[in-house]
Order: sequence, then C-alpha cells, then structure tokens
Amino acid sequence: MERCPECHRWEPAGVLGCARCAGIVDEIVEEGWRAFLESEFGTAEPPDERLIAEMVTEEPDKHPWRVVDAAYDRLTCAECGGKLSRGPAGCGPCDLANGFRYSAIEIDRPGVAPGNEHALRVNVSVARRPSGISAPEVLVRCLTLPILLAGRLPTHAQAQAVKSLATRGATEAELVAAVHGDDGTAA
Ligand SMILES: [Zn+2]
Ligand SMILES: [Zn+2]
Repeated sequence: MERCPECHRWEPAGVLGCARCAGIVDEIVEEGWRAFLESEFGTAEPPDERLIAEMVTEEPDKHPWRVVDAAYDRLTCAECGGKLSRGPAGCGPCDLANGFRYSAIEIDRPGVAPGNEHALRVNVSVARRPSGISAPEVLVRCLTLPILLAGRLPTHAQAQAVKSLATRGATEAELVAAVHGDDGTAA
C-alpha cells in the first residue's frame, strides 16, 4: 500500500474528498471497461461507446461488475441529470440502476482471499455513490479500500469491531488504526 501524495491517506481511502484517490477508484472500473472493449471489439475506443454501454446495462447479469459500473458511468440519468446509478438516493432511475448493478458477475482476482472481490465491489460502489448510506459506514468502506486492493480481507470479527467503533463516533485516526491493525501494519 502507498500513501496518497495529495491527502496522505493510504491510497485510495481519500476517495470522497481527494481527486487523486477518486481517480484511482474510478480507474478500478475503467480498466475493466477497457479490457472488455478490447476483447469484444478489438479496440478500447470504439466509436459507439454509449450504445455499447446501453447494451451492457440491459444485461447486467452477463457482464463483470466493473464493466457494468463503467457502463452506467457513460449513461445520463433522465431524472437527476447525473451519471446513471450515481445520483442522489431517492432518484428513481438511479435507485433502480444501483440495484441492477448488483446482478453483475464477480470473479475473485487471482491470489486474493475468497470474497475479496465482492467486498471490493460493494465498497467501490458505496464510495462512488455514498448518497443514502450512513456517514460512518461510508467512511469505513472508504478506509477499507486500500486493504481490499492489496488483496486482503478483514475477518468478520475485525469488520464488526470497526463498524461498532464507527457507530460510536470514533475519529478517522482511530478507525484507520482499527482497520489496519493496532501496530500500524495491515491486518
Ligand atoms: Zn488522496
Ligand atoms: Zn438519477
């Protein structure tokens, strides 16, 4: 894991306020999108990308989650005008899309703990669309991203401990210590 030179958190835990960290999180789905385009269309820059995005979101259960999330980024919500699926909680089309996205496929990356890819997917999704989710939960999910990207997975007990700390109003520093283990090395 590396420190972000902009926000000094473990990359990309600063996703909510730091443009550099947010870019790294976006890149998680963007790299999946480029790989999909290259394998299906032979180029990462096809002329009708938006049409392809529409096709993907019509069948989210046939594609990996990164591809589906990136496809939604390319579509505009008719109601809130933002990227489809990422508008405020309560926006009908975005709420629907945010539910559909979870029917997409998830495949554990080689060498990661089983369930890591699922945790990464949920945390990336929440970090990119925090509306409607409690502030402590959003913070914990963002702070956990560096560990998940490194291929590790907090145990259930660790996750519960961090969650209860967060709901009791622990500071970010306390949460970081809990997420990474008290000695500062990643748990
Ligand atoms: Zn940062
Ligand atoms: Zn919307």
